Amino acid sequence: MQKINELVKKHNEWRNSCVNLIASENVMSPACEKMYVSDLMHRYAEGTPFHRFYRGLKYVDEIESLVQEEFKNHFGANFADIRPISGTIANYAAFSGISERQDKILSLGIENGSHVSHEKAGAAGFLGLEVDTLCYDNDLSMDLEKSAEKILAVKPRFIVIGGSVILFPQPVKELKVVCDKVGAKIIYDAAHVFGLIAAGVFQDPLKEGADIITTSTHKTFPGPQGGLILGNIDEFTAKTIQLRVFPGFSSNHHLHRIPALYCALKEMQAYGLDYAGQIVKNSQALARELFDNGFKVLGEKKGFTQTHQVVVDFERPGAGHEAAAKLEEVNIILNKNIIPGLNQSPKMPRGIRIGVQEMTRFGMKEGEMKEIARLIKEAMRDERGLEEIKKDVIGLRSGFQIVRYCFNEE
Ligand SMILES: *Cc1c(COP(=O)(O)O)cnc(C)c1O
Repeated sequence: MQKINELVKKHNEWRNSCVNLIASENVMSPACEKMYVSDLMHRYAEGTPFHRFYRGLKYVDEIESLVQEEFKNHFGANFADIRPISGTIANYAAFSGISERQDKILSLGIENGSHVSHEKAGAAGFLGLEVDTLCYDNDLSMDLEKSAEKILAVKPRFIVIGGSVILFPQPVKELKVVCDKVGAKIIYDAAHVFGLIAAGVFQDPLKEGADIITTSTHKTFPGPQGGLILGNIDEFTAKTIQLRVFPGFSSNHHLHRIPALYCALKEMQAYGLDYAGQIVKNSQALARELFDNGFKVLGEKKGFTQTHQVVVDFERPGAGHEAAAKLEEVNIILNKNIIPGLNQSPKMPRGIRIGVQEMTRFGMKEGEMKEIARLIKEAMRDERGLEEIKKDVIGLRSGFQIVRYCFNEE
């Protein structure tokens, strides 16, 4: 036990001294963490509330239906399934619930920031779907005209928009008009921007015409790791999707997540506007500072970003990988990323993807973002020794250790 204790302790200490800019991560509040650890984590509950095989669930049924209703209300959805234990499983369930093998679908394409679950190599491929791509420009904005042509020509069963790299809103309203002509459904994968949507600082996909939202619950939305499906769909489709979630892709759904998920939603209702508003101010400040220091930042003509993400292009194959490795040495944690529109090998990415949501949650504002940009610049340009820069990163992070925008632990 000693070895593993030590390793976990080291991990915790290290990550608490890092500026974490991984765009798909976040931390739960102490109140959510407290909710997360309960007897529910030991229990089984296959099926839906009040229709179970297992016994011992009288409170679980109430908890689960309360949370389900809260999500429906908050997002204006007639359907919510809070059981998928990850965003990928939410996609499996939603995709398979509205399609059959060999159906055609359109997604963004990996180059344009889609998630592997939308692709041949992931869930969509394993479900036997034939995947083609919508059309994007190099700033990750959809080319609506070309995409519309493609939708009309391919007549897909559904299109899936939203992705792992997402800087700007997707043209849902416009796509809805086109998709209606060929009976294609719209699935909006909100994994990255779900917190921004919940807070009302980003587009509202359901209101704009998406049929279904799939998402993770732990990226900009600061809940426990898990997945979720929301929609405005008919009863038959709803039933079909529910049967894909269970018994299709998992049997139990990790019940202790559910109260923590509720806690996160309630925190978003109370503090989401401040939190998500600050995220966008922060990402724009970081992008601007990097740009002013001579880095190529995507989305220049449109203010760089309207989400938590910033994408930097180092304009040399493999440079993204090198940058991410180097920055890890100074305790700045982020991922390499391919740059759209260049047909480059995913193994030799030119860029990095930055996400500011976690540091925003720890209370950082525009001033700290500028400081982070300066530290990134110094490391990338070898202006100071890495050890020295690392000390400054640790110093900066040490002032931001308490989760903000949340209920106090009680
Ligand atoms: C992260 C992500 C997922 C997958 O979520 P998991 O919870 O990790 O399975 C799905 N879609 C998109 C767009 C994502 O970014």
